[in-house]
Amino acid sequence: MGVMISRFAPAPTGFLHLGHVVNAIYVWGVTRAMAADATVEGRVLVRIEDHDRQRSRASYERAILEDLDWLGFVGDGAPVRQSERHEMYSSALDRLRAQGLVYACDCSRAAYASELRYPGTCRDRELADAPGYGVRVRIDPGIERFDDLRHGLQEQEPAAQCGDLLVRDRHGNWAYQFAVVVDDAEQGVTLVVRGDDLLESTGRQIRLARLLGRQTPPRFFHHGLLMKSPTQKMSKSDGDTGVRELRDRGWTPEMVIGEAAARAGLIPAPRPIRAADVSSII
Ligand code: GLU
Repeated sequence: MGVMISRFAPAPTGFLHLGHVVNAIYVWGVTRAMAADATVEGRVLVRIEDHDRQRSRASYERAILEDLDWLGFVGDGAPVRQSERHEMYSSALDRLRAQGLVYACDCSRAAYASELRYPGTCRDRELADAPGYGVRVRIDPGIERFDDLRHGLQEQEPAAQCGDLLVRDRHGNWAYQFAVVVDDAEQGVTLVVRGDDLLESTGRQIRLARLLGRQTPPRFFHHGLLMKSPTQKMSKSDGDTGVRELRDRGWTPEMVIGEAAARAGLIPAPRPIRAADVSSII
């Protein structure tokens, strides 16, 4: 029997809120529904994305895992942590280095803050790789196409959108775009289900995966985000949407899932939904 592997990948930089619950509904729901359609086994891996060592906290990780468990979203296998995968990222970086694609960079984010795209300032400076310097990978021109399972055919041009990608920042943190690509490849992830805020990142991740030797990228499904207001994304500090707060007020896991599903427009009005049943509302 074949297997379809997806992942739930929270950053432990805050507590779980209804936005995460919407993501969990989609991750578990879409994976189960697609695996059933394809008569394959569906697995969801839980990956703690604690690549940013300055912002990640063990206490948030504990709380996230506990809340996830309380909600009934059960991962297949023990969660993995990016902070324990340094060797893997180093060896992936070596593979890029061997292709002559990597260079050291001493630009601060502030130096190009007004531009979305890194302008390539350090590309030809030939700085020696030293502590305190970041590392970037060259992204050459070229279009990336993929068929998003929700939005359809997408065309992106990473060199124009973001320029040369950061692999490791000046503080020694592995960059999100790099870590996520290495992890998805190494964990055999074949289905990525995540919020629309990462739709723009997909072309660059497909490119990076190919540079690292992955020819067939995962399939992608990007879903809408819960908004606090039409222009404001929900944040971890919005107390009224925290899973902990709702739990303390006596809500059941089913009520929390139903509330998140209704806010995401998956059902017309809140009603209790079990984590085991989320594929029925996708
Ligand atoms: N860790 C990311 C987040 O919390 C998700 C990354 C991904 O799904 O690719 O937004």
